[in-house]
Amino acid sequence: MIEVRRDVSLGHYNTLALPASAAAFVEVSDDAGLPRALEWAAQHELPVLPLGEGSNVVLVGEQQALLLRLSTSGVEELERGPEHVLLRVAAGQRWHPFVAWTLAQGFCGLENLALIPGTVGAAPIQNIGAYGVELSHCLVAVHALRVADGAALTLAAQDCRLGYRDSVFKHELCDQLLITAVDLRLATRAQTHTAYPALRDHLDAHGLGEPTPQQVFDAVVAIRRARLPDPAREPNAGSFFKNPVLEAAQAQALQARFAGLPGYPQDDGRVKLPAAWLIEHCGFKGRRRGAVRVHREHALVLVNDGAGRGEELLALAREIAAQVADTFAIELEIEPRVYGAAA
Ligand code: FAD
Ligand code: NAP
Repeated sequence: MIEVRRDVSLGHYNTLALPASAAAFVEVSDDAGLPRALEWAAQHELPVLPLGEGSNVVLVGEQQALLLRLSTSGVEELERGPEHVLLRVAAGQRWHPFVAWTLAQGFCGLENLALIPGTVGAAPIQNIGAYGVELSHCLVAVHALRVADGAALTLAAQDCRLGYRDSVFKHELCDQLLITAVDLRLATRAQTHTAYPALRDHLDAHGLGEPTPQQVFDAVVAIRRARLPDPAREPNAGSFFKNPVLEAAQAQALQARFAGLPGYPQDDGRVKLPAAWLIEHCGFKGRRRGAVRVHREHALVLVNDGAGRGEELLALAREIAAQVADTFAIELEIEPRVYGAAA
């Protein structure tokens, strides 16, 4: 049984608390309901808009779609080898409690990704990453239903084309699949990734030269709680822009012109620049436009103070991007998915 509701307010279903609505809305908590929801959308000639926790979307106005909120849950152990375990995790499972659960089982690999809001099913969409680790480090496969006909299919990790905050689900397969589960391979012997500077500094300050995965998890949680605004108090979607990745020569030329501009060399020889530095340099940190603003400590985070609308937020984003383009000749790319307006 699925229960489809009409004209549903989405203010509580996106972490920016933007006042959008959906022409139709269904919350599905069991796998059997997913094909039924797709059939309902086809019968009513509405596109399907899958939503997890709404922590990486900008919703503008009324969505002429069936908004399908996934709240399926469950973890299945598919295989256990001497050094790894293979898990199948339901798409609607909340990410952070799942990460905490893996550590309690003695499985490691996800600890750097602690406290990222959202669902497991959304994690492959932008190959979530933080503190030097990305989902791609442990993703084995993605299971999905094709929205057009409900057919079940599986994509191996290499077919997901995972990149920096990017995947095939943002390109060729955009809007075509409803992810139902992901398979993850985790280590059963402790190994940690602690080279990311903020993480290393925190561990060193606490005398943790060789931390356990649980200590890395605790460190990431502590750093994030201290540094990042909580969407429950300051509605936001995390980083609003992706960090631009430039050819090395272009990055070096900019670094020669702008003293102090950091650059992080990538494996492919290109250089990633922190978008937050570019935005701060343009004077936007803390700047307010009506009910929306740039966070005063995090230039990459745009905040809705409560009464803000999607259009206002996007106008501020465009103003920032235009100034950064003028100053640095860099086109910033918005990270969250924008629905209901041109980005
Ligand atoms: P939603 O916002 O609900 O959806 C995002 C997109 O995925 C939409 O296009 C939606 O249609 C699609 N989608 C969702 N579920 C499915 C599905 N089952 N099948 C098909 N499509 C689907 N991201 C990082 O990478 N690293 C971070 O460190 C990080 N920190 C954050 C901190 C804060 C405070 C916030 C608010 C966000 C942060 N994010 C971060 C962004 C966000 O948490 C992640 O992108 C997360 O994976 C989004 O999950 P969600 O369930 O909220 O997705
Ligand atoms: P930070 O540590 O202040 O660093 C600022 C930016 O510089 C980050 O975006 C990071 O890129 C980059 N960076 C710093 N050191 C680096 C290194 N040694 N090698 C490569 N890149 C480096 O960042 P923060 O804002 O406090 O966030 C901490 C981590 O959480 C980051 O990994 C960030 O991506 C993640 N995060 C993501 C979101 C989101 O919505 N996407 C929101 C909050 C936090 P990377 O972003 O590539 O790591």
